[in-house]
Amino acid sequence: MTEPTVLTDRSARAEPTVCPFCGVGCTIEYAGNGGATGTEGPVNTNAEICPKGAAAFDVVAHEDRLTEPLVRHDGRFVTAPWEEALNRVRTRLERVIDEHGPDAIQFFASSNCTNEENYVLQKIARTLGTNNVDNCARLCHASTVAAMSERLGAGAMTNTLDDLSETDCLFVNGANPAEQHPVAFRSYLLPAIQNGASLIHVDPRANDTTEAADVHLSLRPGTDIQVANAIAKVIVSEGLVDDAFLAERVTGVDAFREHLADVDVKANAEEAGVDPAAIREAARLFGEAERGAVITGMGTSQHRCGTDNVHALLNLALLTGNVGRPGTGVNPLRGQNNVQGASDVGALPGVLPGYESVTDPDARARVEAEWEVELPTEPGLTEVRATHRFGDDIHAAVVFGENPAVTEPNATAVGSAFDDLDFCVVIDLFETETAKHADVVLPGSSWAEKAGTVTNTDRRVLRMRPNADLPGNARRDLDILTAIGRGVTDRPTEFEYDGPEAVFEELTRVSPIYAGMTYNGIGAGYQRWPFPADAESGTDVLHTETFATGEPTAPLSAVDPVPPADSLEDGELTLTTGRVLQHFNSGALTRRSDRLMAMRGEDTLQIHPADADPREIEDGDSVTVSNERGSVTVTADVTTAVRRGVVFCTFHYAEPLVNALTGDDLDPVAEIPEYKHSGVRVERAEATVEAN
Ligand code: SF4
Repeated sequence: MTEPTVLTDRSARAEPTVCPFCGVGCTIEYAGNGGATGTEGPVNTNAEICPKGAAAFDVVAHEDRLTEPLVRHDGRFVTAPWEEALNRVRTRLERVIDEHGPDAIQFFASSNCTNEENYVLQKIARTLGTNNVDNCARLCHASTVAAMSERLGAGAMTNTLDDLSETDCLFVNGANPAEQHPVAFRSYLLPAIQNGASLIHVDPRANDTTEAADVHLSLRPGTDIQVANAIAKVIVSEGLVDDAFLAERVTGVDAFREHLADVDVKANAEEAGVDPAAIREAARLFGEAERGAVITGMGTSQHRCGTDNVHALLNLALLTGNVGRPGTGVNPLRGQNNVQGASDVGALPGVLPGYESVTDPDARARVEAEWEVELPTEPGLTEVRATHRFGDDIHAAVVFGENPAVTEPNATAVGSAFDDLDFCVVIDLFETETAKHADVVLPGSSWAEKAGTVTNTDRRVLRMRPNADLPGNARRDLDILTAIGRGVTDRPTEFEYDGPEAVFEELTRVSPIYAGMTYNGIGAGYQRWPFPADAESGTDVLHTETFATGEPTAPLSAVDPVPPADSLEDGELTLTTGRVLQHFNSGALTRRSDRLMAMRGEDTLQIHPADADPREIEDGDSVTVSNERGSVTVTADVTTAVRRGVVFCTFHYAEPLVNALTGDDLDPVAEIPEYKHSGVRVERAEATVEAN
């Protein structure tokens, strides 16, 4: 176990803060023994935390922490004083702007850092004159946000964790909250189930969530629309729709009914590889429930038809009148602890803080008045699209707390593309796989060394508080970003802040959905958006009277199935990826925790016995998983948990780098990659063959 030396005497000043991992937003504090403990907070009201939260301090004083700026000289990193490193950042970014303009720079924001830090990062980008700023919401729920924003006017959870505990039916599509949002599951969703709510689980893989399910639809990856349309058909044909709700609050009903006339439940079930009787049962459970809630995750969103997948789920909620009341709605569970907030504060290429379009002159005018700068008018590049253009029209990257060389699809190609840039600066805790391609690496602050706010999955803004000293010459992220802002923009005074509270105050002046909040008002509790300036509090359940579009009605939307980009060739299996309880995202943090690595030290490839047998693969064998994009070696876990024809691997490990196998195809609306369906060959690895 790595002893967190910088924390040995910290128990006396331990202050409750927010867990740095998932979007649930549990409150934790230093336990005085190198670990964290849960403490009663706004979300984990019973002080419960999961193993990741308990291990959160393991990374804080890890020996791999960067403690000095690194600058590349003659191809190798050497340590450098801050002044030299920041000067290098300034002069190289200025050179790129002089030669190619501001749109030649791509900014990667961090879903793992605070609202204030992300706000400053996107302000730097826009002050320089580019909207090329994005965060890893692009990779997880961009399609969800696109579909929900279009139909309902807001891309976040329609409801709250608290009121979901009052539901009568949970329709969990492509999510595994029991493992991925464990405290939300145990404290809010499981009690509902124990009180009699039914659970429908739509997932190609049986996992911990499935154990609580009444119906498990183990669909083929890429057939969410077939399943949702078939369920809609049963709901309509069996009279389970909410006629009053449809009459008052929904448009496009007749056209949708016409579209359903062509849907054949049996044929759709066959395409999805599920039992039509199970589809009918799921439709009846959801359609007959007084309050039914859709929970959606990356199994839904990470397809090239991810936006349409979510549209299909929205249809189910609208048909049954399950919007605008407690215990209902469409609820994306967000991954990283501030992926919601990074988007809220404008770290997206198409919107300003508060989700107002960069093409909206009124929205721009409000921000311009505050920043005293003219803003760019065209949407910028998404981060995935930008990596495809590295070396062409993108010549520099500012990477803040992200690790795209691991997390982007077709990751080997992305890693190489970083070498095509004229300049790259990475701000991070460790020399990540992305940092290895950088020209300058700036040692930033961990979650335990900073103050600020984060926004959790059910729109609660929570405050973080420092619990540890910075190691060596590392600096607080907000200080690094404001220094860059003062250096590279011609508005240096715009980046003079007296700490995160001052940044938050400015954010409330430019973001209508945060307008009524105050730093002190959040205090040890929370404030929830939308919180208009003249309101006494934020709004819990959205869309109660009117939708966030401002309209009293929302439309139904006919969606047709879209085949996955990778068609399977002879003998190929479908690789789908996901998360497990013990690790997080690219694993840069959790793989450095001895206690989490002791729980799950290596990745495995789940493969069904019927696929393993003909390949002479046995449990524990080393197997090669490959396609035209790459090849990885991983240990086989032969199990019936995964459906036949599908193999499952996490994306938490640099080895095996599973994203070496995922493809470049993107959802046309949200530009989210198709992580959930890649054609792969699976064979016993050479070493295994020789050993036998
Ligand atoms: Fe942290 Fe999420 Fe676990 Fe809570 S459920 S302790 S926020 S990882």
